[in-house]
Amino acid sequence: MHILVTNDDGVLSPGILALAQEMQQLGKVTILAPDRNWSASGHVKTLERPLRVKQVVLADQSTAWACDGAPSDCVSLALHGFVEEKIDLVVSGINSYANLGHDVTYSGTVTAAMEATIWGIPAVAFSLDQPDNFAGIVDYCPAARAAKRVAQAVAHYGLPKDVLLNVNIPFLPDDQLKGFRISRMGLRVYHDKMDRRIDPRGKPYYWIIGDSPTSVPERGTDIGTLADGYVSITPIQLDLTAYSLMPEIDTWDWNLELPANHANPHE
Ligand code: MN
Repeated sequence: MHILVTNDDGVLSPGILALAQEMQQLGKVTILAPDRNWSASGHVKTLERPLRVKQVVLADQSTAWACDGAPSDCVSLALHGFVEEKIDLVVSGINSYANLGHDVTYSGTVTAAMEATIWGIPAVAFSLDQPDNFAGIVDYCPAARAAKRVAQAVAHYGLPKDVLLNVNIPFLPDDQLKGFRISRMGLRVYHDKMDRRIDPRGKPYYWIIGDSPTSVPERGTDIGTLADGYVSITPIQLDLTAYSLMPEIDTWDWNLELPANHANPHE
């Protein structure tokens, strides 16, 4: 088995090294990942500039490829000929924070896996639910060992077309991890704010800031599963169609005229 390992935290981050080392026990590993942090970059296809790739040496003296594109660009390059040998599985991570609920739409970790899914290669995104202000050195090894269990299962059972796995791993030592649970996407609560500032030339610029997202720890969701000490596995499909709404929207009158004082019916 030939496994492509990528991430969105950058090729030199500790999470990708721990993941690659575990994947080496399952087969041949090629690492191709961004040369810098692309967290929260979403699903990107770089079209307006060329992509450059260079070889780098990781902390364990293994070699990897570093690309100046997005995580999804890395996967695209690898699957379209940069990596000559056929790739059987793509794993992305281990991201340094959880990717829960609607985070998957922002996550470079998850969208790297989505890129592989688009091209028909089984893919899994791995994220570690480490606390926000953890002071020590984060140990990715327990999470990497859990990732190996998942990768083995995907290699054995396969994944249907159009589906990837989003895996979130609790920040716990091996003997406190309770097991694996299949979960649905939960609800994240975002606290974004806009900060408008003035640059030295008197022109405005903007930051999107605010506290980290919080989450609703409902049972059966990725968030609830992590809170219970289990590895959360959410199958995600790229078909985002809201099928149950199609008949209702099909009854809408496309010729109606809005009154001037119209209010949103959903508020
Ligand atoms: Mn990240």
